[in-house]
Amino acid sequence: MNKWIKFSTLCILFGVLAFSGCVEPVQYPQIVGEVPTAIIPTRYRIVGTSVQRRPIMCLELGAGSDVTVIMATIHGNEAAGTPLVRRLSWYLREHPELLSGRKVVLMAVANPDGMVNGTRYNAKGVDLNRNFEAANRINTKETGLLPLSEPEAVIIKRLIQEYKPDRIVSIHQPLNCIDYDGPARTLAEHMGKYCALPVKKLGARPGSLGSYAGETLGIPIITFEMTEADSKLNSVSLWQKYGRALLAAIVYPDMVR
Ligand SMILES: [Zn+2]
Repeated sequence: MNKWIKFSTLCILFGVLAFSGCVEPVQYPQIVGEVPTAIIPTRYRIVGTSVQRRPIMCLELGAGSDVTVIMATIHGNEAAGTPLVRRLSWYLREHPELLSGRKVVLMAVANPDGMVNGTRYNAKGVDLNRNFEAANRINTKETGLLPLSEPEAVIIKRLIQEYKPDRIVSIHQPLNCIDYDGPARTLAEHMGKYCALPVKKLGARPGSLGSYAGETLGIPIITFEMTEADSKLNSVSLWQKYGRALLAAIVYPDMVR
């Protein structure tokens, strides 16, 4: 009987101490942040290698039929688009509702050798954005002695063949405008509502991705020319400046909220 009274007394004492905060309650793992509302189909893969054997990576988000391809740094010394594209991938994963019915394919670095070496060209000195098999192409040492002579250009061509995108955005510097090729004028104007870059038709460059995708294949393509000073901005500032314009391309013709 005495034992039972002692046990009951201890239980009451423990309960009082626990509720008064003197005894640490059992700790369970904490869930930090929001629980995802949807699982986003995601595929991250190496789609090929550069002349100097650097991997060229591609991130595919979503599984819808409306496809947007966004790529950066095809010119290695115009690299501000790379952190912007990475920031875009984070934003999309936090906002799966934007990927409903859509697929977004991101290539953050199209010319990794040029980026590492701080040059416009690839490791063979070829301007990749003149190496595509467009009707206006010319063969030179700088544009490649043959169309698609460069592995990086072949990778981009294969990417377009594989995904058959509804629109393409290629991010460059420093011409400070939204240029377009093919049936992309309304897309360019749509994106222009969400950033300070003016819409401007620069004219087709021989053998460029714009000429190939826009004029030869008839795919709306934007050459998104940011400014020289954007190289000094971090990804947060780049996102504040241009993020909504990229989202506008993805949800086109819908508006960005
Ligand atoms: Zn460029």
